[in-house]
Amino acid sequence: MTTGFFWDERCFWHGGGNYAGLLPVGGLIQPGGGLPENPETKRRLVNLLHVTGLWSELDTQTAPPATHDDLLRIHPESYLRQFKEMSNAGGGELGLRTPFGPGGFEIAALSAGLAKAALFSVLQGTHTNAYALSRPPGHHCLPDFPNGFCLLANIAIAVEAARAEALADRVAIIDWDVHHGNGTEAIFYDRADTLTISLHQERNYPLDSGDFVDRGSDGGVGYNLNIPLPPGTGHAGYIEAFERLVIPSLHAFQPDAIVVACGFDASLVDPLSRMIAGGETFRALTDMTMEAAADLCDGRLMMAHEGGYSEVHVPFLGHAVLEAMSGSNIHAPDPFQQKFEGQQPSDRFNRYVSNQIAEMEETLGL
Ligand code: ZN
Repeated sequence: MTTGFFWDERCFWHGGGNYAGLLPVGGLIQPGGGLPENPETKRRLVNLLHVTGLWSELDTQTAPPATHDDLLRIHPESYLRQFKEMSNAGGGELGLRTPFGPGGFEIAALSAGLAKAALFSVLQGTHTNAYALSRPPGHHCLPDFPNGFCLLANIAIAVEAARAEALADRVAIIDWDVHHGNGTEAIFYDRADTLTISLHQERNYPLDSGDFVDRGSDGGVGYNLNIPLPPGTGHAGYIEAFERLVIPSLHAFQPDAIVVACGFDASLVDPLSRMIAGGETFRALTDMTMEAAADLCDGRLMMAHEGGYSEVHVPFLGHAVLEAMSGSNIHAPDPFQQKFEGQQPSDRFNRYVSNQIAEMEETLGL
């Protein structure tokens, strides 16, 4: 069996809004630049896979869009109607930094459909594991409020579609995007059948969410885990958080499948974060996740692409993840490796991060 890679050129055609970086153009903000969430990071990942040859080792395909029923399991009818109407009328903005153009609704439904197909292929045994190059991303999207470039909750839509077909019951979602997975958290906050784990730069986006103390509500208490890491966290901090918090939590939960909200914005050169991760980091996190999946759920692992805004670095990080997922010998060396090694935090800073992780570990009783 091979690794499935689900993508569609149409997802790269999503766009809208007149932004310069994160700021709407106007007043003193000069036009130009565009939103950080643009197609180039993803398209260049596809291009790099072609150039190295890893592309031909993956089973690459598109997928149908998520159906109306799929979307309705997560999003209210009123939101979907509003989104579709505005999309038909030429596009617009329904939330916070989620501009879309004409046909934006259909592209977002396709993005969710890629995640759904990738998860189904793993659960049905078609692929060993699978990657969905979903765009627009999904992990910030609340049921009725799109935000942070996310218009539909891709992973939640995929997971609930799988449950509706009785393909999985207990699902663990690890979100290593550098921002808090607030949408995924909110959707599953009172649920005990979905373990949501988010590692993120503390107080980045959204500013006031992602605290360690937010562990779930009602029947879902204990099934949400936030691991906020301080700005400047490097390779060692990510590995330690995974070894001491994420992996033991997965073992305690015993999932039927593991899903990763795979953002690459913890890159040391990402414009929207202040972390120091590189190809080596994402390869190691992927290896650890695959090992846990092999131990717990016959290797069933699906990753859906989220953020990551360095056009130059993201393709190499994605390549590292896909090398690990597919067990390929084709390697694309991280061009920032020297900078990555040179900029790792001091032992003193790593001890500070380590102490915070130890406190969380103790509170969780792991
Ligand atoms: Zn992000």
